[in-house]
This record gives sequence, C-alpha cells and structure tokens, in this order.
Amino acid sequence: MESLFGDAYEPQDEKSRLFADVILPVPIPKMFTYKIPRSLAGEIGIGYRVMVQFGAKKVLTGIIGKVHQKPPKEYDAKPILDVMDTYAVVNPLQIKFWAWMAEYYCCHIGEVMNSALPSGLKLSSESKIQLNPTYDSETSMYPLDDREEVILQALASREELSYEDCEQLLGIKTIHGIIKSLVIKEAIIVFEKVKDKYTPKVETRIRLRKEYAEDKKALENLFQELDSKPKQEEILLKYLQEIPVYQNPELNVKGLDKKVFSDAGLSMSSIKTLIKNNVLEEYKLIISRFEEIAESDEEIVLSEEQGVAMGQIKEGFEEKQVTLLHGITGSGKTEIYIQLIKEALESGSQILLLLPEIALTTHMVGRLRKVFGSKMGVYHSKYSDNERVEVWNGVISGKFSFVVGVRSSIFLPFDSLGLVIVDEEHEASFKQYDPAPRFQARDAAIMLAWLHQAKTILGSATPSFESYYNARTKKYGYVQLDRRYGEAQLPEYFLSDILVDKKKNLLKLDFTRLMREKIQEALNKQEQVLIFQNRRGYAPYISCEDCGWIPECEHCDVSLTYHQFGEEMRCHYCGFKEKVPKTCPACGSGKLAAVGLGTERIEESISLLFPEARVARMDMDTTKSKYGYQRLLEDFGAGNIDILVGTQMITKGLDFEKVTVVGILDADRILYFPDFRAGERAFQQITQVAGRAGRREKRGTVVIQSRKPDHYIFDKVIQGDYKNFYVQDMTERQKFFYPPFVKLIKISSRHKDYKTAEKAARHLHNLLNDINVKKIMLGPEKGLIGKIKNQFIFESLVKLDKSGNAQAVFKHGLQLILEEMYANKEFRSVRVVVDVDPY
Ligand code: ADP
Ligand code: ZN
Ligand code: ZN
Repeated sequence: MESLFGDAYEPQDEKSRLFADVILPVPIPKMFTYKIPRSLAGEIGIGYRVMVQFGAKKVLTGIIGKVHQKPPKEYDAKPILDVMDTYAVVNPLQIKFWAWMAEYYCCHIGEVMNSALPSGLKLSSESKIQLNPTYDSETSMYPLDDREEVILQALASREELSYEDCEQLLGIKTIHGIIKSLVIKEAIIVFEKVKDKYTPKVETRIRLRKEYAEDKKALENLFQELDSKPKQEEILLKYLQEIPVYQNPELNVKGLDKKVFSDAGLSMSSIKTLIKNNVLEEYKLIISRFEEIAESDEEIVLSEEQGVAMGQIKEGFEEKQVTLLHGITGSGKTEIYIQLIKEALESGSQILLLLPEIALTTHMVGRLRKVFGSKMGVYHSKYSDNERVEVWNGVISGKFSFVVGVRSSIFLPFDSLGLVIVDEEHEASFKQYDPAPRFQARDAAIMLAWLHQAKTILGSATPSFESYYNARTKKYGYVQLDRRYGEAQLPEYFLSDILVDKKKNLLKLDFTRLMREKIQEALNKQEQVLIFQNRRGYAPYISCEDCGWIPECEHCDVSLTYHQFGEEMRCHYCGFKEKVPKTCPACGSGKLAAVGLGTERIEESISLLFPEARVARMDMDTTKSKYGYQRLLEDFGAGNIDILVGTQMITKGLDFEKVTVVGILDADRILYFPDFRAGERAFQQITQVAGRAGRREKRGTVVIQSRKPDHYIFDKVIQGDYKNFYVQDMTERQKFFYPPFVKLIKISSRHKDYKTAEKAARHLHNLLNDINVKKIMLGPEKGLIGKIKNQFIFESLVKLDKSGNAQAVFKHGLQLILEEMYANKEFRSVRVVVDVDPY
C-alpha cells in the first residue's frame, strides 16, 4: 500500500525543502510543482493554502501536498506567489487519504480536495488586471503601441479591470501578449484577490487595559484621578465588581459585554470617554456558534448481552482492524458505541462516528449529546459554511476529539484517530454519486482508519452483504446481538394480499382490509402508526385513460411525477416542472388519471379513511428547511401526530415508544427493481422500517401489502432469517459474477448528441476490452435512464477479477485511455464518468 504514494511523505530537513507540489482544482490528474521562494521558506509546508500562477493567465489557489527537492523535468517551476495561512488547514495524513481516494475512485486529487474542503475554507477569487505601481511610461523600456495604450487609458480612469473588461477592449490574445511582455518589464501585473469565505462570529467586549489590570498601584491612582468624575468612576466600579482583577488579572482577558453596563443603568458615553482616555478598551472576542453543553458523568450500564458483545469486540480488535456488529433493531448498539467512545477518549485518541444523513437529527445524536456534551462535534450538511469551518478548526485545535457526522466528515482534519464507527453501515446513502470522487464513505472510512492505525466498527441490524461476506471469510471480526434490550420483543408480521382484496372489493384507496383494521386498532388504543412508501409526490405519473399518453421530462428519459400540491408534474432527476394539462396533448381526451402511489396521495387517502386521525407526512418535500425534519419528529414524539406517512426517511433511527403499527403499502416496488442488490435492499428496508414498531413493552405489528405475498423474501424477513437469505442471494451473485465476487466499475459516456455519446462509448469500450486482465465486460448500452439533463448516456460495466493486481492494471490502463480520448478532437466534449463500486 505504501508504494502507492512513493517516498514523498518522509520527513525532510528544513533546508532541502525547495519545491512544493500543489494540489489545484483543475481536471488534470496530478499535482503541480512550484518553487518555494526564500521569502516564504519558513512559513510554508504540507497543508497550507497557497496562491500560484497557472498557465499564462490564471492565478489559482491550492493546497501544498508535498515538499521536496526535485525540480520538475518538463517545465521550469514558477514561484509560489503567496501563502494564505499561518497554520496547515490540512494535515499530511489527509493528503495521503486524498491520494488514495483519487487513485481508488479513478478521479483527480483536485476533485477530492474540492469535495473534502468545506466551502467556507475554499478561497474565492477573481482575476483582475492592475497597473504595476513601479510602471512609469516615461522611463519604461517597453514601448506601448496604440492598441495597448487603450488598456492604459482604461486603467487610468479605473483602478482595476476584470479580464472580461480587457477582453472586450482588446481581445484575450493581445492581453496575454501585454501581460507577458510587461511582466518581464514589470509594468502590469495580474493578481488575484483571495478571500476566505469563513467569518468567525465575534462579540465586541469591553475590558480594562493591561497596564491597569496587572498593576494595582496604577489602578489605585486611576481611582484618585476619577474622584471628580463620578460617572466614569461608577463604570469602573461596576467593571471591577463583575471582574475582580485584584484577585486575578487573568479574568480581565475576556472582558465584559457592554450590556452589563446598560443593564445597570450606566451610560454608553461614559464608557466611550474611558476608552478615549485609554482606561478601557474594546476588543473582539471570537465566540463559538455552538452551545456549550456539559457532559454527563453517568455510568453506562450494559446489559449482560451487551457486556458479552463488548468483550468480543475488544477481543476482535486484537487481531483485526474491522469488526462487524450485527445487532437486531433495538438491541442497543448505541450504548455499546458510547462505552467504546468513552474508552477511546480516555486513551487520548480521536473518534469518528459516521451516520447516514437523516439519522443525524434523531435520538442517537440526542443521546450522545447528553453523554458527551459539547465535546462532541456534529458535522451535518444542513450546517452553514461557517459552522462547518468551526467544526473543522475545532478538530485541529482539539476542541472536538469526537465527531459524529455524515459521509463528508471522513475528510475532517483528524490526526490521531483511534476509533471509527459506521452506524447503519448498509445504508446506500453513504455512496456519493455526484460529483467525483464517487466514494463509498463506509469503505473510505475503513481506509481512513487504516491510515491512522485505528479500529473500525461497522454496525447494522441488516449488514450489507459485502460486510457480512468479509465477516464470514474472517477478514472482519463478527459480533452478534440477537435480543432486543429489556422487555421489547420483535414485532409480529402480517402479509396482506393486494390482489385478493381487490377481487373481493375490499381494497379501499389502496389499503387492504387487514391494514385498515390494524391501523384502527392502534388508533383506538391511542397508539401511533407509521406508513412507509418509498415514493414522494402524489403519484408516480399521470396517464391518459383513452390513449395511454404519459407525460415525460423534456430533458430526461423519465416520466414526470405528479405532485398535487401546486398541481404540478416534476422531474425527480433534473427538477424540471410543468403544470398538469387540462386535456391530453396526444388525443384531446379530458380523462387524465394519476397512476400509482406517492406519499402525498397516501396522506390524502388516510385522511379519508381515518378522518379522526391526525396525519403528517415526512419526505424530502416536507423536510427541506433546516429544522423541518426535527420539528416533525418532535411533533410525533409529543403525540401530536397519530399517523406518519413517509419515505425511507422514517426507516432510520426512529425510536418512539408509542409506535405499535408499521404498514408497508407496496413492498413489491422495492423488490422488483432491476439491480443485483434489489433483494438485499428489500430485506434491509422492510426489516428496518418494521424495527420501528414496538420498541418497548408493547409488541409491535407490521402489515406488509404485496401482490406476491408468497415471495421467499417475506418468509425470511418474518423469520428474521438474515443468514439464509444471504446464502441464497450469494449463490446468485456468485453465479452471475456480482460483488463481492468481482469488482464492479461502471463507465458512462455522456453527450448532448446521441450519436456522439454512443460512438464514444463504443470506442472506449473496445480500448478497455484490450486491457489484458481477467474481466467480463458488458455493454455499451443505453443507461437505465437513457437521458438526464439533456445528456444521452451509454454505459459499460466491467466485472474485474478480484485476485492479483487486475484492479491496479485496469485502472492504470483506464487512465491512459482517458487521457488519449480527451486529446482526441472528436471526443473532447464527451464527459466520461467512472464509477468504482457503483450502487
Ligand atoms: P439499536 O440502535 O440497536 O436499534 P438502540 O441503541 O436504539 O438500539 O436501543 C434501543 C433502546 O434500548 C433505546 O431506547 C435505548 O435507550 C435502550 N437501551 C439499550 N441499551 C441500554 C442500556 N444498556 N441501558 C439503558 N437503556 C438501554
Ligand atoms: Zn390521450
Ligand atoms: Zn428531467
């Protein structure tokens, strides 16, 4: 593994650090070498943000990835123009991690940097052209021609010009000419304004000047002077009453909020006078955007089973880096995490706990907050740029040695991780689809932990088959928790046949009789109900009852989803929306009907079927605002909602005592999805959502509606027979060459012209086919969705042999082929997307 990164990261002595390789946000898969000017020699190192000239016209900001003494062979290294930081915002381990990610996921390290840095730490910049202050037209050796004079005149009337301005005046070629010549003659320079987007939150405070705070005599003299000025004296007395500097001058450092004086009825003008007289001073205190919360000293008492599991985990750690904690829903994995985190903190190491996006505002975070207080950082996509930078800096300063966060938190500047936990490790949302790097956060977290020599726990009630496979083949340790904590039992399942009810006329608004009965029973007992349907909107689509016309997106190869709210049809791929037509555009018929089930429609049906019940809906549309999700949860927890309808958002981490009935309206929709993981997903989703029912004394009820209730998967879910389901599914995967038996890489070619996209895909496919490694190649074929945002998509699927170095050889070959393709005029505008381990 080490050889990947060469010897570049070995410590070197200060004097030999002559060159720096800089990671730049450009689509070229390498770093760029610059000279470290003597003036910056002591102030620069790995992880500093620097400004460099790139090409003839651009100035870019990037991060130093490496310092060394080898001048580049192909070009003369230009000097680094400036350094932006007084400390490294990124550490060497992170650069190593980025390099691994770029290599494994076949992307550029600049792209990894872009994903990794919170946008508040990215420097915003703008190229401007200014007159060099040393330029003097009288003495300059460089004669300007008439055309070039235009620029000078323009600069005379304005201080600076943007590139666009100059381009309009002269055309970009001439501009480059002038800059080049004039740079040599030092006449005009191009420079870039760089600013941090992060702004710390500050409070203006008042404090006593140091000479008084630290010198009793001086302070006493001051009081004598102020004898004749009672108002000022009063201010000073108030200050000393709040901050007794006599006892401890250090208390003075943070000073006082102005409010303290105004609350005491003291005037601002006397404060101002004291400031003017150099007695008090104003200063800006940087304050945290996060509330201070005390940690608790509660002892964690594990149940007997949890205790046993804990022992096994620790035993496993002695031999293996990764342990899979397979604990059924409600078995109390959180308590085990808490214990492990406590111990890791005590040993002085950092901890990262990864959660899927939506689980972050739930019980688990609340529970962790109670135990760890504000020692725990939270890294969340709904945080503002500033908040995220604060967490980032908090990790560097040691304020947060434990962070719980979403997938991007693997990029935080940890330097001594001891423990990484990935909860709900089976979650598909750990995969980043777009943009590159298209990483799987669970897999990347394992690599991250490896770089830190840290231990990893993967936790789930329904492990991904990849992880379970690794456990069974003894690559990972394996610990099982197969009983719910306390008295709670697993729920009772009922299968309800949609077609049978339909035939007997018992299906009402898509609810079978059994489903309605179970819901009604819960309502009668003042218990709560969850209804799961993984489709937002009102109906998947609208269709003409006379001619079968279905509205499609203008930009994508998908039908539009009908949203009753606003009478709109929306594309869930590109956001395109359109009003529902009054009549069918194809045949003029007025009979347009909504087909299929979305959460909006279910919410409406429930209101009709159970008019007395209070209904709410939880999906992407109702939880857009920062606290939307949390508010809904609080409402539900407070008992203000009887029935909650939702998408997969309701399957994760909800732990409510009064939920006794869970209904799954259309299980077939999850099951018959054209993907090799469909079975695994269905098993996971059904088990997870069912796991929300009956988590305390009362046993829960789960009703599953299906058109094919005799499918073997239901039997396995009901038995809780994960293992046999796995075995069955694995046999298929092995037979048809799917992960974990092969490594999958999906390569898609996208272009706005159908023919070009197809041709590029063919060309690429053939070249890849020639790479001499053991593999199976499928395609190129039109993508499952053939067009997205006006780009036609053709895909090749590569199934690589997992043994030996097939992967490395193939990825290397792929890189060369892509370089060649981009050099080819015909394909230059084709976008090739490489997805390693696609979902
Ligand atoms: P899981 O994440 O495995 O589904 P949880 O960690 O949410 O399960 O635990 C289920 C419930 O049992 C929670 O309400 C939790 O507070 C409770 N619980 C689990 N273990 C303990 C323990 N050792 N002491 C007290 N309560 C516990
Ligand atoms: Zn029609
Ligand atoms: Zn679209």
